[in-house]
Order: sequence, then structure tokens, then C-alpha cells
Amino acid sequence: MSDALLEAGERLTPNTPGANADAIAQGIATDVLARVSTVLPRTGGPYPLHAPEIDGNAWRYVKDCLDTGWVSSVGAWVDRFEDMLADITGARHAIATVNGTAALHAALLTVGVKPGDEVLVPSFTFVATANAVSYCGAIPHFVDCEIEGLGIDPAALDAHLAWIGEVQGDTLINRQTGAVIRAMIPVHCYGHPADMAALCEIANRYHLTVIEDSAESLGSRIDETHTGRFGRIGAFSFNGNKTITTGGGGALITDDDLLARRLRHLTTTARTNDGADLVHDMVGYNYRLPNINAALGCAQLETLDHKLAVKRRLSLHYRDAFADATGVQYLSPPSWGESNNWLCALLFDDAPARDQVLTSLNAAGYQCRPFWAPLHSMKMYADCPRASLAVTGHLSACGLTLPSGAGLTSEIKR
Ligand SMILES: *Cc1c(COP(=O)(O)O)cnc(C)c1O
Repeated sequence: MSDALLEAGERLTPNTPGANADAIAQGIATDVLARVSTVLPRTGGPYPLHAPEIDGNAWRYVKDCLDTGWVSSVGAWVDRFEDMLADITGARHAIATVNGTAALHAALLTVGVKPGDEVLVPSFTFVATANAVSYCGAIPHFVDCEIEGLGIDPAALDAHLAWIGEVQGDTLINRQTGAVIRAMIPVHCYGHPADMAALCEIANRYHLTVIEDSAESLGSRIDETHTGRFGRIGAFSFNGNKTITTGGGGALITDDDLLARRLRHLTTTARTNDGADLVHDMVGYNYRLPNINAALGCAQLETLDHKLAVKRRLSLHYRDAFADATGVQYLSPPSWGESNNWLCALLFDDAPARDQVLTSLNAAGYQCRPFWAPLHSMKMYADCPRASLAVTGHLSACGLTLPSGAGLTSEIKR
């Protein structure tokens, strides 16, 4: 049987749990509920997974847009939001966009991803990572993750590329498909930084352009360097469920002046700056963040440090609560980086325990979600090239995310 069939088989027909397995899963669920309730008391619920926290100057700044009529795609708040983002991340340039998916799309186009190219992406990520590749007419090539940081596994990637890849001049060719493998998109899953030192080293060796999907990792760093600054371009999301929100929104960061100019051009309908109004010199995109969203974003960024501190405390409480648990581990940030702790997560030894815990926690008012389904299991991506994806399968079947919002602050014990 091919490993595709094996993996599908494992997902679709888990060992039918006997009465004993049922009892074990039930026991773990009772234990997990008790541990979670030492962090968030049962009387304080229900606890949402990650609700937006509209605080600080949000009302004042948004009202300014309403009062002045500057609600759309031009305005002072957009410029201010970009300046604040550049400041926080340390990047030379920040360009605000309508959402994180658009940011990824613009990034890939700008570094020259072409129809028919392959782009390495983890199968374990939100679907937008692969969709942005598809929007370019390119093909996602799925690679596996490691458990410590939940990012692309550098060792597995290196072995896979040694097996299927062939460097010709300064391009990497997939020997099995004949396509150019142009780029790689590491994702900082649930806020934990991927192992960027190792991944960038591999990217250099194989002539891969690195675009970081930092949608979930505002505030996450490795040795003081903000995520999104290791690759050529980093893409962020400010959707309602992310660490800070603009309602819907995103941004691109880069240190490269030329790329920044191109990104800004492409995301603002490619309008020329030659004084003639309404002249456009290529097929651009209407991807600019509206001023009203940016106003909310400025207020949100002002309280980012507070949000990060609360989330860090919550993560440490969960870690302590699960320190001596069996059958399950709390997924603390990796040794190589600092996480914004966007979503706190548990990983179980087996799927029946995870499924039982999901049911029990949700019934008790703790909103939890299973980890993403693997992208290579979805029908539009089932035929894409891929590496062995054993860890991805395990994560998807055995992981869940816990209530993690900064708004849980007053409810946190201690
Ligand atoms: C949220 C998210 C995106 C997309 O961002 P939107 O603003 O929702 O378009 C992309 N990648 C990852 C990993 C995300 O979590």
C-alpha cells in the first residue's frame, strides 16, 4: 500500500475503540478538564477560543474616521499603522493589506513565483498558505512539520530535497515533476516560530526564496529578530481571531527597498505616480487596507505588549497545569524562539483521547478546536507533490487548541 493510502486509512478508520479504550479516553478527558479548570475556573466561563479584545483608543480612533469621512483606502491611519508595524517588527518597510491571504499572494507574485512553479508549504497550516500559491497558478508542494515548534521540519525537508531535487544553475528542479521549485513558505504555527536558522540555510543551499507566513506570529521573535524578517518578505494577518485585529486586514514587511516599492504598487492597483490620474501600468490588485480598519489597528498595536504579557502568563499557567500529565503534553514554545502564544495547544498520544477531550471541554464551556486537517487531505490539494507527512498526520489527529485570548485576563487564577 502506498503511504498515501496508509495515511488516509489511519485518518478515516482509527482503531475502533473497544470498551477499554473508551474508558481510558474518558479518564484522560476527566483529568484534562480538571487541569484546565485550575487555569480558568469553571465558574468563570464560557471561555471563547480567541475573542477579539477591543480596548484602548479603538473607539476614539475609529470615530475619527467616521467624523472626518476618511473611511476608505486612503488616509492618515494607514500610514500610521504601517509606521507602527515597521517600528514593532524592526523592518524597514511595512505595507498594509486587506487581509493576510492577499499579503501572501502579493508577496509570491513580487518575488517572481510563476504559473507551473512549485512552492514548498507545510501541509499543516491554515488553507490560505496554499491558496495564495494557487492564486499564482503555482503548485503547493507539501512538506512535513516537527513537533517542537510546529514549523517545517528542516531535517525532513533537507532529506526530501536531496531525494527529489536537482540544482541546475541557480534553480531547483523537482526531478519527479520537472517543475521549478521556486520558493518556500515557513509558517509560524499558533505563534511558535519555525526553526528559521535551519530553514534559511537549506533555502540558501537550494536557491529557494523564503516568504514567511507570519499571519499568526505578531510579537514572536528569534534572538530579538521579529518573525517575518528572516525571509525576503513576511506576511501578517489581523483577522478577528488573531493576536491583534483590524476587523479584517494584513500586512507585508521587508527590508528590501525595491521589493517594498513593488509590493506597494501591486497592492494599490498599480497606479503610476507620474501626475496623470488613473493611469495604471500593469494588472494590479485592490489590496489596500481601508483607513477605518487601520485606525482600529493603531489602537490595537498600542496595547500589543499588554496582550502579549497576558498571553504569556496564560501559556505558563497551562504549561504548569500539564507538567505531570500522562497521555498528553502542553506544546510550549520551542527552545529556539519566543512565541506570542497566539493559540495554546495540547497534543495527545492518540486520537480517541483527543476526540473525547474536545467533546468534554466544549461541553464544559471551554471552546476548543481540533488542529487543522492536513491540506494534502483536501480534495483540491490531494494530487499535489509531497514529502512523507507522518508528523502532520499525527498532529492533525491528536492536537487541539485551548481558550487563549488576551481577554481572559481577569479570569486567570493567581
Ligand atoms: C489567518 C491566516 C492566514 C490568512 O489571513 P487572513 O487575514 O484570514 O486572510 C494565512 N495563514 C495563516 C497561517 C493564518 O493563520
